[in-house]
Amino acid sequence: MMESFVFPGLTTRVVFGRGTTARAGDEARRLGHSKVLVLSTPHQKADAERLAEGLGDLAAGIFAGAVMHTPVAVTEEAVAAFRASGATAVVSLGGGSTTGLGKAIAVRTGADQVVIPTTYAGSEMTDILGETADGEKTTRRSPDIRPETVIYDVDLTLSLPVKLTVTSAMNAIAHAMEAFYAPDRNPVIELMCRDATAAFHACIPTLIKDPMNAAARGRALYGAWCCSTALGYVQMALHHKLAHVFGGSFDTPHAETHAILLPYTTAFNEVAVPDLLAPIAEAFGGGSAGGGLWDFAQSVGSPLSLKEIGIAESDLDRAAAIAVKNAYANPRPIEATSIRELLQAAWEGRRPGA
Ligand code: NAD
Repeated sequence: MMESFVFPGLTTRVVFGRGTTARAGDEARRLGHSKVLVLSTPHQKADAERLAEGLGDLAAGIFAGAVMHTPVAVTEEAVAAFRASGATAVVSLGGGSTTGLGKAIAVRTGADQVVIPTTYAGSEMTDILGETADGEKTTRRSPDIRPETVIYDVDLTLSLPVKLTVTSAMNAIAHAMEAFYAPDRNPVIELMCRDATAAFHACIPTLIKDPMNAAARGRALYGAWCCSTALGYVQMALHHKLAHVFGGSFDTPHAETHAILLPYTTAFNEVAVPDLLAPIAEAFGGGSAGGGLWDFAQSVGSPLSLKEIGIAESDLDRAAAIAVKNAYANPRPIEATSIRELLQAAWEGRRPGA
């Protein structure tokens, strides 16, 4: 029996392929803009400069100051640069940090966004903006935050370091995992998530050995698009909550935190909804969704334990307390004892069920 569902439609225009960065100017003009500000991190400034050169008269300048977790102080500087440049849109080239800065400018100025993602983090298809001020991370959602156009250029991902390739892929798979049991799931997102998990399972082992393999890079970036769409169009639960707790309160690195937690959060919820997580178990093998993800993580050299990223065992009580403070939808009830057990296993790096 087909479950009843609502499919909200997808509003962001997507351009996918190799060399597609060359189409950024046409895409900005298509949205009605004649001046754009190019955004990047300091690390990707050379790519931003090449992009601006290609944009010619359309480029009103470059702001290459994006940093992780979208600090409001950096956004204020970028908004001033945006206003001074006379631009009416931003072109954000980079990972989630650069996309976040573009969203923060858009929500304050009404700027349109053309996003060129270069990791698999998946911010580009979402209406979510996380910002930090005075050491606190807050998250908001608004239609003004969702980018108008996303250009996926496989060539820009060839330079993604292997370690970030692996953890960023696990970050993307986490969006798919939670989409399978989201209360507002629908068949379109489910199809995308099935295809994405199969794509990552197939291409990540290739990319570890051959990071410049364009065919495998293409599959990974396609998977990232599917997972970003899931993140942007259905509700996330325990996994994203826990990643937010560690990133927000313990300042752990974004992609690694997702990568480490994923097998454990999957195993936790698999107890309640094994049927809904069967696509993950099928994609990764290992007899269970959580176990299969742990085996995959180990085989591709993804970090497996919270202690590897500087979390002390004595931090776990506080993390568990923050995680259970506010209620949110999750397929398995969230209580202090079981969450603390999940965190203990994730801290030790023990295979779920072992
Ligand atoms: P990132 O954007 O911080 O990138 C990490 C580093 O890798 C940066 O120095 C970047 O310049 C570099 N890099 C990126 N792509 C590269 C490439 N192809 N080649 C070489 N270097 C490259 O990391 P991320 O994991 O993509 O993003 C993390 C941030 O995104 C966090 O702040 C997170 O909260 C946010 N995020 C937000 C959402 C959302 O929907 N709001 C979703 C996912 C992530």
